[in-house]
Amino acid sequence: MVESEGRIHLNPDIARVVCSVTGSETEAKQFSRPLGLCGCCPPPGKPLVVVYELDTIRERLGDTGWGTDPGIWRYGALLPVLGLPPSYAPDVGLTQAVRSESLTRENGVDLYLKNEGSNPTGSFKDRGLAVGIALGVACGAKRFCLPTQGNAGVAAALFSTRLSLPGCLVYMPENYRGGLYHREAELFGAEVRFAGANIAAAGKVMREAHADELASGQLVDMSTFFEPGRLEGKKTMGFEIVEDFGPGKLPDWIIYPTGGGTGLVGIWKAFQELIALGRLDPTEHSLPRMVAVQSENCAPVIEAFHRGLDHVEPVESEGTVADGLDVPGAIMGHGILATIRESGGTAVAVSEVAIIDAFRVLGRNGIAASYEGAATLAALRKLRADGLVAVGSRVLLLLTANHFVSLGREST
Ligand SMILES: [Zn+2]
Repeated sequence: MVESEGRIHLNPDIARVVCSVTGSETEAKQFSRPLGLCGCCPPPGKPLVVVYELDTIRERLGDTGWGTDPGIWRYGALLPVLGLPPSYAPDVGLTQAVRSESLTRENGVDLYLKNEGSNPTGSFKDRGLAVGIALGVACGAKRFCLPTQGNAGVAAALFSTRLSLPGCLVYMPENYRGGLYHREAELFGAEVRFAGANIAAAGKVMREAHADELASGQLVDMSTFFEPGRLEGKKTMGFEIVEDFGPGKLPDWIIYPTGGGTGLVGIWKAFQELIALGRLDPTEHSLPRMVAVQSENCAPVIEAFHRGLDHVEPVESEGTVADGLDVPGAIMGHGILATIRESGGTAVAVSEVAIIDAFRVLGRNGIAASYEGAATLAALRKLRADGLVAVGSRVLLLLTANHFVSLGREST
């Protein structure tokens, strides 16, 4: 890895940044301003993706392991931004996949859990926002904003304050006022504003209110997939999965609760990069099949998958207890669907009752997960009942956040 020289800077091994739909290289190659959506597709554009000089990185890393930087920056060779202070994100990531004996017995599969609840703000959003905020700063951003229905706003606030930036500007739906997410974001210095009934409405108000600052690049919109850094942070889950299981013993299935889909697409991107580095050989060992889970009340990805579409069409959400799954349209829908299909996976919608029941089952088994995480267990039960996941399969459930907010909802 290149020496950090004590300042935040771009990874010199970035080859290019491309549009996720057309593959065209973005003109922002010089990184003189923060990256947003592509300029080649119809407005507002589509997500950009970072591509690395993988041959160069392969040569440099050789047979050695990863780096020695703290937290997810041990994978710095494959992250877009380097030179962060050691105190910035040492507590992010490195969540181990743990086998659950009791759930293995109950479900007839070899069951592992990757619980992201131990991240500093209690969810996997910390991975994406830690990298996204740092990447924005390396490209000249002065402040960040985003609409949120929960954990992402809290994580963006945390990493803004860890770099001593002006408080993150967080827009939440009106009914979040006074709630846990509101109080958490403020605790980490965010300026919280309220607008609309859901994240889409809050985002619309935010973009109208700050159009000039957003256009100048001083303020950066950190919405899911609106910039390429969050995807890079989320992909570290994929590196960890390969390290935990080893290339020859990867899970047969990874079941992932899908809202915007950053983690699902990110884990798959990590696998592809490891193949290019010679650390995974898909001809020798099969890669996991990726499963997207959504609530029956808001299932645009499941609908698009079963209709054979290559993009996700927005639906009308009926609301779900799992806030993170309440995403009626996904701007990276094409990437989510491509990941599911390339991996030979599938897409499953589960009922609200099944999510709540799975949440309680996890609790009884001593597992502190959110409703979103519980949806993965509900999906596994359905896939087992349908016979799609065979007895004895190795299965990894991605538990994306701790149980606090979900439990708070249960008592109301
Ligand atoms: Zn494009």
